Amino acid sequence: MDLDELWRRTVENLVREGLIRSDSVRRAFLKYPRYLFVEERYKKYAHLDEPLPIPAGQTVSAPHMVAIMLELADLMPGMKVLEIGTGSGWNAALMAELVKTDVYTIERILELVEFARRNLQRAGVKNVHVISGDGSKGLPPTAPYDRIIVTAGAPRVPEPLVEQLKPDGKLIIPVGSYHLWQNLLEVTKKKDGSVKVKNHGGVAFVPLIGEFGWKE
Ligand code: SAM
Repeated sequence: MDLDELWRRTVENLVREGLIRSDSVRRAFLKYPRYLFVEERYKKYAHLDEPLPIPAGQTVSAPHMVAIMLELADLMPGMKVLEIGTGSGWNAALMAELVKTDVYTIERILELVEFARRNLQRAGVKNVHVISGDGSKGLPPTAPYDRIIVTAGAPRVPEPLVEQLKPDGKLIIPVGSYHLWQNLLEVTKKKDGSVKVKNHGGVAFVPLIGEFGWKE
């Protein structure tokens, strides 16, 4: 079976399991298969519903995890969005397909900034801006955002990220321990600036390392 057919089956499984709920997320997954964002030797595993290695000892998340976060984020065309933790660039490509406008994504490891840019270019994604830096501080120049998705685990909700949300904006972030166990939080900023936090349960991400994350 070829990579596209394997991927199509993965996507349909996620739909059957109720993890992909919207047609827009389904179409984005079909447009940008995960195998486009991993090294050659991992392409044959890209349809498996588990994380895969990417350079610099990091990972690209499992398809079900990416689906859950994108469905929670409820991305609509025209939204201003920021991703923290570019990694392979796969989730940023999916976000770009959903918002149909510029996406900002920030990565602290230079090797991955370059890896993601290459992957995005090869996949034909034009509206993703990969920025090198510490995303735990957010990205003030292009703030405020309708949505911020953090794909690394933080010790607590970084204050700058809440500040950089628009009213009614949402932050999706894993918060918990350094050693691969966090709760996936949906943080909504109300019009008066206060926040509502909804816990979506246990997840396992690599650590968010930075000024408002874990110390190196
Ligand atoms: N979203 C990625 C993808 O689609 O491939 C997967 C991200 S991987 C699970 C987490 C990434 O967060 C790693 O690449 C890691 O280097 C990055 N990271 C950790 N702390 C960071 C920080 N403070 N700022 C930016 N990136 C960070």
